[in-house]
Amino acid sequence: MSRALLRAILPVLMAMAAHADDPLAALSPPPQVVDRLTGAAVALPVSVERVQVVKAGRALLERFKGRLPGGTLPAEGYLLETGPGGTAVVAADEAGERHARRTLAHLGPTPPRAAFADWPACAWRGLHVLDSGPESLPLLKRLVHEKLGPARANVFVYEIDYNFKFSSHPEIKGAWTRSQVGELVAACRAEGIRLIPEINCLGHQSWKTPPGPLLVAHPEFEEPPDAKVEQADPTKEAFYCRSWCPSNPKVHPFVCDLIDELLDAFQADAFHAGMDEVFVIASTKCPFCNGLNPADAYMHAVNDLHDHLAKRGATMLMWGDRLLDGKATGYGEWEGATNGTDHALLRIPKDIIVCDWHYEPMATYPSLTIFPEAGFRVWPSVWKDPEGARKFMEAARARKDPRVLGALATTWINGGRMAARLLGEPAVDADRGDGEMKIAVHALQVLADAWHPSAR
Ligand SMILES: [Zn+2]
Repeated sequence: MSRALLRAILPVLMAMAAHADDPLAALSPPPQVVDRLTGAAVALPVSVERVQVVKAGRALLERFKGRLPGGTLPAEGYLLETGPGGTAVVAADEAGERHARRTLAHLGPTPPRAAFADWPACAWRGLHVLDSGPESLPLLKRLVHEKLGPARANVFVYEIDYNFKFSSHPEIKGAWTRSQVGELVAACRAEGIRLIPEINCLGHQSWKTPPGPLLVAHPEFEEPPDAKVEQADPTKEAFYCRSWCPSNPKVHPFVCDLIDELLDAFQADAFHAGMDEVFVIASTKCPFCNGLNPADAYMHAVNDLHDHLAKRGATMLMWGDRLLDGKATGYGEWEGATNGTDHALLRIPKDIIVCDWHYEPMATYPSLTIFPEAGFRVWPSVWKDPEGARKFMEAARARKDPRVLGALATTWINGGRMAARLLGEPAVDADRGDGEMKIAVHALQVLADAWHPSAR
């Protein structure tokens, strides 16, 4: 075991050792409130009531009422009391009951006698991974059942991009079948996890070379790079990613066909459109875009996708960086835009959920004010830097704004590799070192923190 890996998992091992004789203290994430009671208890039988029609559990509700947020049990929350005659549960909803039963399962058949009140600090607790192909389906299902469910994640953003056997456009050569995706859907449903597919739209159509699957099949869809900045200059080492042209009338209906197939296969009520880090846009070399400014081009791209998703009844999510002024906010040219696309912010629909990503520690996070004040829900998104994640999430919670939804743990590794690391399985391909293990462990910690911030 390497020193770095040991450092990553040592806190977990120490916590396990410290709590070996105290199953209540070993619960992860820990419940919000625990009253330790005296005497013996057994787990079974379990009686469950909904908080809206509570009868037998009225005393349990009264016990905690003054300690619940606003005096009410939040969504996904539960109350639980173990006793000599079994366990009483009062749940806010189906998810609350699932969480209560999971807590009880961790405590075993003879739990300590205690009463709990538990609810999530954040409404949206999600993981984002890159695609690892259908051959990783068994690992992905285990990731959902053995890691995401216990961490109480409730959203899984799966960036499949073009790796699907699209029947509408078979020239896009993808691998996932509809029935394979259906197995992932079923695993997520069993754990109460909302599965959201993603195609990274507009930008990120490839790195410098080779073109990505869309541009391989349809090179005529590319926005020709015009070297306004070095990231858009294919002769420079700094060239970043190719884009599709949002003004080419053939692109939008084509992409909508792909999105429709993914919405159907994933049985999804939301779609993540990506749209981050777009540098090639409104090219002077593009016959369709020439004369457009970047803000107009970006706005049209966002609005066209939103209009289609709205017709499907699907919520749109997207990364937020192109909607922020990189100079005025201090975020710079990656976490913000320096070509004016941020002027699109007030001209796109307010029901888009903006995934606001910031990975390094910063003194302030102006986007946590900018997006809600513009009327958007914002989903703070973090990565592998523990201090960066802690500071951003602290700033997000300090807003005390229901439009600030929770935490999205990005990993930027593929789901199969993440699962293999966490499950102790051999890596699906060449070992890249224990950096992946640290990222995977940290992502689970972010999810636990999103349930209970003191879990860190
Ligand atoms: Zn164009």
